[in-house]
This record gives sequence, C-alpha cells and structure tokens, in this order.
Amino acid sequence: MRFVTYRDGKGNELAGVLSVAGDRVHSLRDLGCDVPSLIDLIVRYDDRLEAELKVGLARAGEDGLPLARVELQAPIPHPRHDILCVGQNYRAHAIESARYEGKEWKQPDWPVYFSKRVDRCVAPDGRIPAHAGITSRLDYEAELAVIVGKTASRVKPGDVFKHIFGYTIANDVSARDIQMNHVQWIFGKGLDGFAPLGPWIATADEIPAPPRLAIRTRVNGEIRQDSNTGDFIFDIPRLISELSSGITLEPGDILITGTPSGVGMGFNPPKFLKPGDSVECEIEGIGVLRNVVA
Ligand code: MG
Repeated sequence: MRFVTYRDGKGNELAGVLSVAGDRVHSLRDLGCDVPSLIDLIVRYDDRLEAELKVGLARAGEDGLPLARVELQAPIPHPRHDILCVGQNYRAHAIESARYEGKEWKQPDWPVYFSKRVDRCVAPDGRIPAHAGITSRLDYEAELAVIVGKTASRVKPGDVFKHIFGYTIANDVSARDIQMNHVQWIFGKGLDGFAPLGPWIATADEIPAPPRLAIRTRVNGEIRQDSNTGDFIFDIPRLISELSSGITLEPGDILITGTPSGVGMGFNPPKFLKPGDSVECEIEGIGVLRNVVA
C-alpha cells in the first residue's frame, strides 16, 4: 500500500491511502482506521490492521477523492526526531570522489552518521527556499528514506527488515558553503525547508529486501544523478543494527541512506540550484518527488 498525508480542500490535514490503481485517495478514517497521522498509523500497524485496510481498499471503489484533486503533504510532515542521515554511502560516488582527489579508494570500516534538523518536511510540489541571503551554493541529494515500523533497539542485522514500515524519497538539500564553513553539517543541511519528503510511503511488502532500485535526479529535465540503491557501501541491515545498538529507533523515525554521484558540487564547474529550478528525485517502485526552488 501507499500511504499519504494530504489536505482535502476544507483545510483538514488527513492520513490516507492510495487506491489500488493509484489514482484516488481514501482517508484512513473512511476505511475504519481513525488515526490523525501516519505516525499514529505506524505505531498501530500490524498484520491484522494491514489485512483490514486491504479489504477496505478493495471495497472502497470510487469513494474518496481523485489524487489530482488533493494537495499532498510530506507523508510525515513533522518527524518525532531529526532525520538520521548517512554520509557518502554509494560505492561509485566514493570511488569517483577519491579518483578526483588523486587518491585510491579504500573501503571504509565505519559509516558517517549525522542528523538533519527538520522544521516541517517540504511537501511534494512544495517550494525549497533558496536562503539567498546566506548561501550561494544550494545543492540537491536524492536519497532512499527508510521509515522505521516497530521500535528498534539492539536489532540483529538479520532482523532489521522486520522493523521497517516502508520507504519514501528524500531530497537532502544542502547549502555547501555553510556545510563546509562550520565543520559539522547540522546548519548547512538543517535550514528551514531543506527536507522535501514524499510523495508517499510505499510499504515494505512492495519493495524487495534489500532494495535494489534505480535512483535518479533531474534538474529542469537534465539527468544529474543516475544510480541504484544496490550500490550502497553500508547496507540497511548494517546501518539500522548499528544505530539501534545504542539509539532506540521509534515508529515513524526516518533514516536517509546517502546520495549517489552527480550532485551539483560534483560538476566542473559546479551546477548549484537557483530560484525557479525544478528538482525531481525519482526512485524505482516508489515514485517521483518534485520540488521547485523558490
Ligand atoms: Mg545526504
């Protein structure tokens, strides 16, 4: 199933699910699941609720609203915690970066973790603020976002996929000058509006484990990033088992898994974003997250 957060045209922000054909939105309340948000759904989600929702969806038919008539929000507009992030996690990108610096790439032993502060995740088709007064190096990073399902503490690698609710797409928007100036990345990657997320959460049963999905970014239609999530240096079992060895991951927590080569700063000369640019992050089996720079 594909779960969404949306506005219904009467000012209500609702949790919903796409129809089987993917062209209509049904509120979870109408399907008998009275939850105010997708985080509440994820907390309650189990095999029985999943089965009930699938039965409800099959019966719902032409009820609900056409997808084209609702205003999608980020599926989790207000995460409970900052987004957990992984730095440089694509082999091709790491090898390419090392070559660019005249070094030989060596498999690292440990992933780079950092945190992305979020005021409110930007909606599909929402605007990315340019923050032109403080940055002139605005950049994009398409990433597979993992949505935690069951509370995860000290999870063994072999059990990690049982703790995943689903997947969506994130754009880890970054101000490269701020990111570099301040050593740690919390400021340069945490500005207001730097966390576009969506368009929906595809549940884990729809995505192969481990996910081997094409991931691409287009800026104004030009392909910039074009890779596959099978190219991770540190796979999802490693990341979640390691983090959960000391941090309890809660239902609805978000882990973004790194970006492939082809970000703006990787070009010579660099191709940073400017107002009016359209950025489309696409992941096979999930969809397209499109945003425009304000
Ligand atoms: Mg990133």
